[in-house]
Amino acid sequence: MLTSICGINWGDEGKGRMVDLLSEKFDVVCRYQGGNNAGHTVINERGKFVLNLLPSGILREDVVNVMGPGMVIDIKHLCGEIAKLREGGIKITPENLKISDRAVITMPYHVLLDCLEEDRLAGKKFGSTRRGISPVYADKFYKKAFRMGELLNTERLYKRVADIVEWKNLTVVGGYKSEPIKTEDMIAYFEEFGKVLAPYVCDTGLYLTEAHAQGKNIMFEAQLGAMRDIDFGIHPYTSASSTIAAYAPIGAGVPQLQLTNSIGIMKAYSTCVGEGPFTAEYFGEKAEKLRQLGGEYGAATGRPRRVGPFDIVASRYGIRCQGATEIALTKMDILSGYEEIEVCVAYELNGEIIHEFPFVDVLDDCKPVFKTVKGWNCDISHCRKVEDLPKEALDYIKYLEEACGCKIKYVSVGAEREAYVEMY
Ligand code: GDP
Repeated sequence: MLTSICGINWGDEGKGRMVDLLSEKFDVVCRYQGGNNAGHTVINERGKFVLNLLPSGILREDVVNVMGPGMVIDIKHLCGEIAKLREGGIKITPENLKISDRAVITMPYHVLLDCLEEDRLAGKKFGSTRRGISPVYADKFYKKAFRMGELLNTERLYKRVADIVEWKNLTVVGGYKSEPIKTEDMIAYFEEFGKVLAPYVCDTGLYLTEAHAQGKNIMFEAQLGAMRDIDFGIHPYTSASSTIAAYAPIGAGVPQLQLTNSIGIMKAYSTCVGEGPFTAEYFGEKAEKLRQLGGEYGAATGRPRRVGPFDIVASRYGIRCQGATEIALTKMDILSGYEEIEVCVAYELNGEIIHEFPFVDVLDDCKPVFKTVKGWNCDISHCRKVEDLPKEALDYIKYLEEACGCKIKYVSVGAEREAYVEMY
């Protein structure tokens, strides 16, 4: 079985906790895109863990975790993340962590260039997480990047460094008038962090092909939502990678395999980090209340998230992009304090009501059309079975299911692993 778990919205849907929950049924969990530009927060019996690069399956002892060729890996950050998890008692060895030889290395100068460009843009910034993600993906496609497999032959690798550094300084020094990058610093960086990670590097495509042939269940874990996909998202306020489920087998190293199903993670209301169009956005007190209730602050950056009600237009589009076959609806408990719940049912564009998610440029002129539905206005965090949920909560679930055209299989009602209801 090959299952993808992907975000339907702008990210931060609670994918981490759903992967943590569902990974019980899987032998292998793979990350297939992105880098340390987002974070999953997972709370389980061992404590609270923030994962930026490692697949969420790392928190389960018997799961093998794969970091695929579609990823960009900040090796310093990864070493830090591994060390922190080990402090928390998590076992990490080459047996349960496999890093693709084809994954690209995020270098310190990628982070530097990300910061220099955001600073140059000032008021017009994209809202980058400043983790070097766009610059490193750009270099990948420029074919001037270092890959994890090169850490296995450092003699050859170190010979390439001077050429790349010379080329990079054309931009760093020539363009941004910043201090030059030094070849010896980059070699020292590889020496310090590359050596630690080299034992984990392998052909993850081969590993996954064999695991699949042996009947193992494989899960692909996305890091960001559909709206952040480089092609289908709210470009240019997107990530630089493909976040969609169809890319998962490619980004994990098994382009010949096809997904069995795609579980879309969708939040019971909307949140968005950073710049860009966010049509159903709340402002002022309304926003503050929802942000506080949901604890909506970025896991990687601590930035307050923009918030709004559930957006049917954007979510239907997200479900289509992700080819979702079932939905996990998260953070339902956050809406418990509302007597009435608003939902964005359509957009108004130049006096016309539209139901399909438009081309991104047009979004700036769209206004949300809200509808109010009855809230349940009571605590649902203890609910574990369908019968435990109040009628209004069931009505809300059914309403979203019908409006979005996809079955909701799981509903989460708390951050803890067991705080959820399986609907069917
Ligand atoms: P991800 O990047 O999609 O994994 O999202 P985040 O890491 O930002 O996770 C969302 C946050 O909400 C985390 O702090 C989770 O522990 C928390 N969370 C997830 N599901 C639920 C839920 O059903 N209820 C509540 N109250 N919190 C949840």
